Amino acid sequence: MKIHINKIPPEGLEITEEIDPRVMSLGMESQGIALTSSILVKANVLKAGGEVFADVCLEAPAEYTCGRCLAKFSGILKKEFKTSYEAKPGEIIDMDEDIRQETILDCPMKSLCKPDCKGLCPNCGQNLNTLKCECEI
Ligand SMILES: [Zn+2]
Ligand SMILES: [Zn+2]
Repeated sequence: MKIHINKIPPEGLEITEEIDPRVMSLGMESQGIALTSSILVKANVLKAGGEVFADVCLEAPAEYTCGRCLAKFSGILKKEFKTSYEAKPGEIIDMDEDIRQETILDCPMKSLCKPDCKGLCPNCGQNLNTLKCECEI
């Protein structure tokens, strides 16, 4: 997402863009998160006192893999953040790196299908959420 400083009117600007997660190299697969379609990014941009302020909200459909029981479940990855840049006349600000950083920020190291997921039995592999196995562990 790019902001053209000279194109920001005094009342501010709303920019909406869809970003292909494949070009972002997010590397979230190890956390069990795969983005299944484009990331919708909405930014409210305002120019004031030599600075550009951006209020950004991003949303992406995601496919999660539970880190304990390996169940797959889908959800929406949502983030909101504020950022600011120095406003040099005529400059174009490229926000992609900030968007990338914010997308991966605060994502749990492990995604869980539910907070109290019991996981798989390390002995027989039974999903302990659905059935208790006979193993003594
Ligand atoms: Zn689970
Ligand atoms: Zn077992």
